[in-house]
Amino acid sequence: MAVPDLELKRRMEAFASACRRKGLKATHQRMEVFAELAASDEHPDAETLYQRVRERVPAISRDTVYRTLATLERKGFIRRADAVTGASRYDANPRPHHHFICTSCGLIKDFRSEALDDLSIPKSVEALGRIDTAQVQVRGVCKSCQKKAKRDK
Ligand SMILES: [Zn+2]
Ligand SMILES: [Zn+2]
Repeated sequence: MAVPDLELKRRMEAFASACRRKGLKATHQRMEVFAELAASDEHPDAETLYQRVRERVPAISRDTVYRTLATLERKGFIRRADAVTGASRYDANPRPHHHFICTSCGLIKDFRSEALDDLSIPKSVEALGRIDTAQVQVRGVCKSCQKKAKRDK
């Protein structure tokens, strides 16, 4: 599934202006890698992103894509999503949101909840360190895995 055009446009504009603000050159390759991630709501891993970017930019190397993701993460443009298994998954959704994670196929889906955004964090966490963000992870089995399990019975 893809992110709606308007939202993608918003994410690209926010990325371009954040690059200017943070002094990161918005190179062609960075724009391409970010655009590919921003267009997806599946929280793809680096290899998936590399394969997709390569379809549009055949000259791009795997190394460049991996290094670009590391740079974008370090600069705070993207985040790692909490994958249950396997490779790191990436997230370019800048809005506060939470994740539904399928423990069977690894699907990671965003959902919004104002109630969860306002979650009060226990004082005991503040004792551990500074709190920047909090994200709720809901784990379960997605609809399509449920259907598959029924079929396979
Ligand atoms: Zn699933
Ligand atoms: Zn997400």
